[in-house]
Amino acid sequence: MKLSVGHLYPELFNLYGDRGNVQCLLKRLQWRGIEADVIPLPAGEKVDFAGLDIICWGGGSDRGQEIAAGHLKAIRADFQSYVEDGGVVLAVCAAYQLLGNYYRTEKRTIEGLGILDICTEWKTERLVGNVVLESPSFPSLIVGFENHAGRTEIGDYMPFGKVLFGHGNTGNDGYEGLIHKNLIATYLHGPLLPKNPEVCDWLLERALRRRYGREIALEPLPDVQEHRANRNIVERFTDCRKKTDASCLGKSL
Ligand code: GLN
Repeated sequence: MKLSVGHLYPELFNLYGDRGNVQCLLKRLQWRGIEADVIPLPAGEKVDFAGLDIICWGGGSDRGQEIAAGHLKAIRADFQSYVEDGGVVLAVCAAYQLLGNYYRTEKRTIEGLGILDICTEWKTERLVGNVVLESPSFPSLIVGFENHAGRTEIGDYMPFGKVLFGHGNTGNDGYEGLIHKNLIATYLHGPLLPKNPEVCDWLLERALRRRYGREIALEPLPDVQEHRANRNIVERFTDCRKKTDASCLGKSL
């Protein structure tokens, strides 16, 4: 078995070590004896979506987004077909915004791919800090770090998580990111996957199912360090401080 992970525009989008997500995907496959390769997809080059099982796209500056926007039209149709066909995607922050219709900053409007019917508006006050989320899709709480000026309205999409601590999509709607088919879009850096191994495995299981046309259960991993890192953030920033807190049972404590 083998999966190919496409790393989109790695030269423009690697805020807060987002490329660690790619490393995490590879490592968790290798630990289970599954082969994996990484295909860097630099801006301006042709992308063979049929050969990809997971696309990882990280966060970046407004300037990086402007540069990328000039290359998006060329990949738009194939990227959209990939997503609608269940292709697996992890898009962080700037990438999340670029999957939508536009990101309007104080100076200009950066046109996005329009694969997600969402819009992002810039505001002076940045939303910065640690984040803790709760999601019915994952048994553990999700932790990460956000730093964005954009506010994203997600309409009817399913959120990635409910904000227990932090700001999330708009700073006031109580939700963070979104899930559409096998795509997760989120503001969470960290990088996200090493501290949230269940999110990593969610992506891997979907990619394996799509490539091989059947359920492939991933061997469980001990994840001792991973859960310790996750719990450290949860305990610092939420009320889930005591192991006995009933509302936190089953949530990584
Ligand atoms: N430039 C975007 C914003 O500030 C995205 C930032 C990021 O990727 N962290 O909203």
